[in-house]
Amino acid sequence: MNNFTYTTAGSITAALQHTKRHPQAMYIAGGTNLLDLWKYNLLHPQTLVDLNGVPGYHTIEAKEGGGLQLGALVTNAATAYHPLIEQRYPLLSKAILAGASAQIRNMATNGGNLLQRTRCYYYYDGDVPCNKREPGTGCSAIKGYNRIHAILGASEHCIAVFPSDMCVALAALEAVVQITGQQGKRSIPFADFHRLPGNAPEKDNALQAGDIITSIDLPAKEFAHHYSYLKLRDRHSYAFALVSVATALELEGNEIKEARIALGGVAHKPWRIPEAEQLLQGKPATAESFAQAADKLLEGAQGYPHNQFKIELAKKAIIRNGLMALHPETQLPGAQPSA
Ligand code: SF4
Repeated sequence: MNNFTYTTAGSITAALQHTKRHPQAMYIAGGTNLLDLWKYNLLHPQTLVDLNGVPGYHTIEAKEGGGLQLGALVTNAATAYHPLIEQRYPLLSKAILAGASAQIRNMATNGGNLLQRTRCYYYYDGDVPCNKREPGTGCSAIKGYNRIHAILGASEHCIAVFPSDMCVALAALEAVVQITGQQGKRSIPFADFHRLPGNAPEKDNALQAGDIITSIDLPAKEFAHHYSYLKLRDRHSYAFALVSVATALELEGNEIKEARIALGGVAHKPWRIPEAEQLLQGKPATAESFAQAADKLLEGAQGYPHNQFKIELAKKAIIRNGLMALHPETQLPGAQPSA
């Protein structure tokens, strides 16, 4: 049994003061991943600062000039079923409902969803080398069983993938993460929030010590009419993606005016290549057009002995999801076609 102290923060300022005095302190909100890591003996918090009582971050509100502000402390379930999300950003609702289980979505918060750690089996096994868990020890996945691992953006130090579904949709929607830290407030575009492993896989994102995510802003562009989230996995529910695709289209007739495509389950962050989306501009919304975009998105993809299949799977998923985005009304709410 490890002793720890637990304190509740009544404001962001109070939480920041606490972490300034106790630099090893950790924040907790939903705690769904933190408690996993704790039970696996991978984290040993000495001080927990509970953010749930901080007022002002539990709502979803329209922003001046368009767009929505998602409070960091709103649960994933409340976000997915919020009328403004269902009506205006259905891609986000669909992606959230493809993730985890109903019980976890009822607890997990929006801020916490961005901060969940990889589900690499070796990361959770404290007896084997893992550069993400213990920098400099090596990566057990590269020569181990790597079925769930990355095909894009990996490094010789880590081939883990980021597990979120919600974040794949947020990447496609070009959300912006609002942060308050010891130096004040700042905004980070979603594409820059999560990072590739490089030679520092222990660092998942651009947060600095003490930083608190306060909200996630959705831009005015909603893509409410042509969208789809496709998640392919080994089990139909409560499983992480082998490959997932968020597609959002703006169409004029059958011509693509604007496209967004983000991939999940393939890299250390949601994978998006704007050049692939530009290839679709002015093209007919056909399987051939989506195949060209897929080739660009997957340029440089490299598989490992057990996950080579992901490259072809991702290509087919991009094409299929592009076609599904043309007729979102035919998709049942939250339904995921099986692989
Ligand atoms: Fe650790 Fe990353 Fe290698 Fe998994 S892939 S064992 S998380 S270093």
